[in-house]
Amino acid sequence: MTKFVFFTGGVVSSLGKGLSAAALGALLQARGYKVRVRKLDPYLNVDPGTMSPFEHGEVFVTDDGAETDLDLGHYERFTGVSARRSDNVTTGRIYSEVLAKERRGDFLGGTVQVIPHVTDAIKNFAIADLQDEDFVLCEIGGTVGDIESLPFLEAIRQLGNQLGPQRSMFVHLTLVPYLAAAGELKTKPTQHSVKELQRVGIQPDMVVCRCERPIPAEQRKKIALFCNIESAAVVQGIDVDTIYQVPVEYHEQGLDNQVLRHFGLDTSKTPDLSRWTDIVKRIRAPEGEVNVAIVGKYVGLKDAYKSLAEALVHGGIANNSRVKLNWLESEIFEGDVAVGSLEGVDAILVPGGFGERGSRGKIRAARFAREHKVPFFGICFGMQMAVIEAAQNLAEIRGAGSTEFGPCDDPVVGLLTEWQQGEMTQRRRVGGNLGGTMRLGAYPAKLEKNSRLAEIYRREEISERHRHRYEVNIHYREPLEAAGLRFSGLSPDGTLPETVELDGHPWFVGVQFHPELKSRPFEPHPLFTSFIAAAIDQSRLV
Ligand code: GLN
Repeated sequence: MTKFVFFTGGVVSSLGKGLSAAALGALLQARGYKVRVRKLDPYLNVDPGTMSPFEHGEVFVTDDGAETDLDLGHYERFTGVSARRSDNVTTGRIYSEVLAKERRGDFLGGTVQVIPHVTDAIKNFAIADLQDEDFVLCEIGGTVGDIESLPFLEAIRQLGNQLGPQRSMFVHLTLVPYLAAAGELKTKPTQHSVKELQRVGIQPDMVVCRCERPIPAEQRKKIALFCNIESAAVVQGIDVDTIYQVPVEYHEQGLDNQVLRHFGLDTSKTPDLSRWTDIVKRIRAPEGEVNVAIVGKYVGLKDAYKSLAEALVHGGIANNSRVKLNWLESEIFEGDVAVGSLEGVDAILVPGGFGERGSRGKIRAARFAREHKVPFFGICFGMQMAVIEAAQNLAEIRGAGSTEFGPCDDPVVGLLTEWQQGEMTQRRRVGGNLGGTMRLGAYPAKLEKNSRLAEIYRREEISERHRHRYEVNIHYREPLEAAGLRFSGLSPDGTLPETVELDGHPWFVGVQFHPELKSRPFEPHPLFTSFIAAAIDQSRLV
């Protein structure tokens, strides 16, 4: 029977609930259990796909084409279990389902209410689409006390009752701040936050306290007393230098043991965490260091490129190298002066993006990389900008542009109006809905024999995750290939360019998909491993 661990958070947001759930997932796996990690998000958007990355950070795309919260990326990276559409839901989706049922007449004669209709829909979601999982770790987004999280807390309260303590557990994350003026760690916010949770009828079984400094036993006892739990159920989550240390740290603090004790499971065996300690060792003591410039629009918020930053770390781990990331705002390259800030970097990456603002800067960055023979990696929008650059300056198609920015003479990148998804044809038109209508999720691609891409993947058939509305126009293949930009990967029907590479350049690759979404610490994505290897070669040239 599947057991459920619900994670709530209090005091402040950004406590790392997602990482804590992911780390517990990894610890339970290390003991041989099968886990799924899910997230319930209280905001009203149907999914995060329409939100600005500044607002919400990266949108994580699953194989089955769902646009989800970035915490699902942590879950995948820590547990290796591919997330699915059924692992993330929002208030918006819950309500649209309930309202669609109401319109259909499913509740005919009844008054539709938050309790029980909305809460039932949430509960159904939390327990849906499971097979033989031993544990489902379910994170509730937001902070206890928010108006919008109330239906979710009510739903998990009911679920806890229905399942009973043998099958459910509540873990509450809080912050224990250090007040320099008083020279003390403060437990009051934790006490208040737990009270808030108790007010809605949830008694946490464990309190995880995020802190900058170790919490002395006395303070833990105090928290236990006020929160109505035993001292062993107060677990400290101290800040660490790399997120891959989190499972080891939590294990040392007794997190997994306490969870197992709650469910009456065996704690006598010590789990083998050597893969985690090894990886942390490699991250902490690399042999070399490379500088990678990331030229993007959302560089002010690191969460906007979460999976990308992690994938670069993974590429570094694979090459025993520290990857230093220089986040550069693409708009600065629109003036003449700033290209100088790319001099001396070992590699340049232009990530995914949307809209015209900053696009000229990305095109200039691609040109710099091409002309100065600096390793270049263009991802999705980054590939599109690199193709426009090559079209304008190599193939001399002067009017080359993307219709994403309005009409242009040579739409080298254009709106994707029709494509194959398995047996089905997907159709889109100008002016259609923007939410959930991109080409989303895993699609196969065929790589050309003897291409650099096939060499990197060591395969000719690949499957990668996509999230785009525009596409490089296959009709420009001939002039671009004649100018040296090879279309080395295509959709199986040969109509959609999936990868490009530049002949006679040390490493110049563009991909229409998002390889960063599939990179994991124990399985670094081959493109990132190869890209960092090229950056290392480049660093040796200087
Ligand atoms: N804006 C581009 C498109 O929709 C690229 C999207 C992306 O980089 N994810 O095709």
